[in-house]
Amino acid sequence: MAANNIFLDALERLKQMSKDAGIDSEVLESLLHPKAIIQASLPVRMDDGSVRYFSGYRCRYNDVLGPTKGGIRYHPQVSQDEVQALALWMTIKCAVVGLPYGGAKGGIEVDPKSLSPMELERLSRAYVRAMADFIGPSIDIPAPDVYTNARIMGWMMDEYEAIKRQRMPGVITGKPISLGGSQGRDEATGRGAYLCIRELSHKLGWNPREKRVALQGFGNAGYHVAQLLQQDGYRIVAISDSKGGIHSESGFDVESVWRQKQRVRRVQAVYCEHTVCELIEHKQISNEELLELDVDLLIPAALEGVITQANATKIQAPFICEVANGPILCEAEAILEEKGITIIPDVVANAGGVIVSYFEWVQNRSGYAWTLDEVYERLEEIIVRAFNKVLNTAHEEKRSLRSAAYTAALRQISDAVTAHGTREYFKNSSE
Ligand code: NAD
Repeated sequence: MAANNIFLDALERLKQMSKDAGIDSEVLESLLHPKAIIQASLPVRMDDGSVRYFSGYRCRYNDVLGPTKGGIRYHPQVSQDEVQALALWMTIKCAVVGLPYGGAKGGIEVDPKSLSPMELERLSRAYVRAMADFIGPSIDIPAPDVYTNARIMGWMMDEYEAIKRQRMPGVITGKPISLGGSQGRDEATGRGAYLCIRELSHKLGWNPREKRVALQGFGNAGYHVAQLLQQDGYRIVAISDSKGGIHSESGFDVESVWRQKQRVRRVQAVYCEHTVCELIEHKQISNEELLELDVDLLIPAALEGVITQANATKIQAPFICEVANGPILCEAEAILEEKGITIIPDVVANAGGVIVSYFEWVQNRSGYAWTLDEVYERLEEIIVRAFNKVLNTAHEEKRSLRSAAYTAALRQISDAVTAHGTREYFKNSSE
């Protein structure tokens, strides 16, 4: 998928979904236009003494439900279109799980693996200097996304506080716990996705031991969902990262592969006991091949637009859980639906991250830290309630889970938009 089409694709889906939801055309219109977007050139002094300029973006898409919220991505393919699409999805996501937030997203066009740690810190601080008037605890609250992490969030908070000359931990979430982060934030996205799969499996009476899972994208979100599924007995038969994947019908030990990836920076088929890792029998596969494997559950957890019209017919998994944002393009979805494939949509499947980010923001604003058990309990309460509502609507009204999720979100947004006055209200009051 060309990055410059992803926003149009997101708008196309929104238009389709708003028909299903039966919302007013004014509400749809308000969601077709991002509220504000800023692009900045970020000058960074490199270790060799030269100065390089990087493009940084931040989009506050819609704030009718509250201050906007969304991650910051560091990736060579970051573009304005991508950031806008991701910000639109954040708007829907926050609404579907009932958070008092609008949607936002940000990013820097950079290959972070090519920078030294000090260059990365200077770049992260430059981003905040450029965005300081655009973000804020009551305006727009960033968080981690692809190739950003707690340490980067900590640098960003520190830079923001230096500019504002006061402690303001609520400006950003996903921080290290020692700097005001929340217990449970790291694993929140994976845990939320796991809870959705668990609810679906209860409804369908699955025996996890009979289910084989393929995972694309072995990062923060992917690792945690795979680990929790394995604990329930699911067999994780394929895992990939940006460099390629591994496949073995007997399944992998997620923890061993993860520990090895931290050491060698790629996925390797190993089983580790203590510090000793042994190679296990497997096949090397590409990311494209992984998507087309004969498995029971496919989890795309890397980037958007990986399932397209070109490969949709080859997808064999009867269930897909979208842990990544936007992995399935609109045109591909119609093909998957025709094949009877059930999709747990991104706007609810990966909402665990923003839910625990919300908890972090609440804790920062109240100055009272919660325990890990409290975080898990409240995360489960919110995501299970939202997902079961989606499941029930889909079942009762015989439509896809995505259509049911968008309907819940769009009605929430619609209520807020119409509370400001509708066409009828203004027409009648001017007569
Ligand atoms: P991450 O940076 O921790 O991990 C990304 C992983 O994807 C890495 O293992 C990387 O090697 C792999 N990857 C990159 N390009 C790839 C490619 N072309 N093919 C296969 N793998 C590739 O990022 P993350 O936070 O785990 O985010 C992954 C997805 O989950 C993204 O779509 C992100 O928007 C979404 N998401 C993340 C969060 C969160 O809280 N971290 C919340 C909601 C949604």
